[in-house]
Amino acid sequence: MHEFSIIQNLIPQIEEFLLKGNYKKVNKILLEVGVMSGVIQDALEFAYDICSKGSAIEGAALSIRMVPVSASCEKCFIKFEVHDYSFVCPQCNGADLKFLSGSELTIKEIEVEEA
Ligand SMILES: [Zn+2]
Repeated sequence: MHEFSIIQNLIPQIEEFLLKGNYKKVNKILLEVGVMSGVIQDALEFAYDICSKGSAIEGAALSIRMVPVSASCEKCFIKFEVHDYSFVCPQCNGADLKFLSGSELTIKEIEVEEA
């Protein structure tokens, strides 16, 4: 499962942040996940529960914000959100699109308790 490797990769980054800032613990982590990243939210939460056990961030709440796909049209230059995988411009029906968001996987916020 792809979600496990994401979490395994993520935890050391947060632990490092904790160590560097000399924070006592992490209360909450907010992740932004693009809907096109192929990540399943439930699977990510499941992987987090398992992988965070025994780590420095055990007990921190994970919240996941799904980011919609947005694109701009290379022909008429409008920006729009893509729904239902319909990859055409709603204004000119052009299919020449530039993707602006939807495949990211970023740590947006880390809420910590100061030591
Ligand atoms: Zn267009």
